[in-house]
Amino acid sequence: MKPIECEGCPLYDAPGPVAGSGPPDASICFVGEAPASDEIASGLPFTGGAGRVLSVLVRKAGGDRNYCWIRNSVRCQVPGNDMGSYEHAEAAIQHCSENFLIPELEESPHVKVVVPLGNSANWILTRRGKVGEGIYNFRGYPYVDPVYKFIVLPTIHPAALMRDRTMFNVVVTDLRKAFRIANEGYKRPPEEFQIPSTPFEVEAAVETLLQAKVPVTIDIENPNGQLVVLGFGIMSLCHVCAFRRRVRRPLLENRRRGGAGDCGDQSTPCVAGRARRLCNSSNTRGFG
Ligand code: SF4
Repeated sequence: MKPIECEGCPLYDAPGPVAGSGPPDASICFVGEAPASDEIASGLPFTGGAGRVLSVLVRKAGGDRNYCWIRNSVRCQVPGNDMGSYEHAEAAIQHCSENFLIPELEESPHVKVVVPLGNSANWILTRRGKVGEGIYNFRGYPYVDPVYKFIVLPTIHPAALMRDRTMFNVVVTDLRKAFRIANEGYKRPPEEFQIPSTPFEVEAAVETLLQAKVPVTIDIENPNGQLVVLGFGIMSLCHVCAFRRRVRRPLLENRRRGGAGDCGDQSTPCVAGRARRLCNSSNTRGFG
């Protein structure tokens, strides 16, 4: 017999529920997707293959899963264990999380960081991305919502690492960050933005980046094959953006974040030349 809160949930007749694990005073909570057969049998989350991977990840990040909360977005088993193709996925996640997971997190005075493992949990906690889609665009970046008393830091689901271990160390790094925030609190790194207003200022700023002996990031936005934005940065300390086209909305959005200036079409040739040199220099790394 399921509790009254379950009435109306698409998974009402599915096997479960499997609640959570972890001590009442845990400061970090991992949130997966749904229990599978191993979890239904044990009555505990993450006790199958993905659970073993999670234990290793947590240990390598310097933690111990016995001192963490472990939860799922839904507490009952999804047909075929495949949330991505389950037609009522969003309704079930919303119903279960809003009745159990989110109230539990909000009522805890101890939880400082919540780590969505995969996009189901990320979607319900941040309303970003889509259920069944990849989480690569969101992983590793702390998400601050004034509604929550905790920071959300999404990463890749351990089950995905069972299929492809390429991102294993990336997830360990994400979890290290999560433990650090849980122990020390979250401080947004100081940022220094440069807003060039002329092509000459852009050229000077890019030249400064060329001289720097630290990794430089370049962000190239080219929707529909047209170059719209070139962004350059040194770690999180300095950012320069140059716009080829006067695209109103991105410009406003970037200005609101304090990170961009519109240099106009004239700046493109000089910036593009410097960008080529930056791309070829040994201190440059590119991100998509
Ligand atoms: S998924 Fe959650 S809300 Fe739905 S039936 Fe199971 S425990 Fe209840």
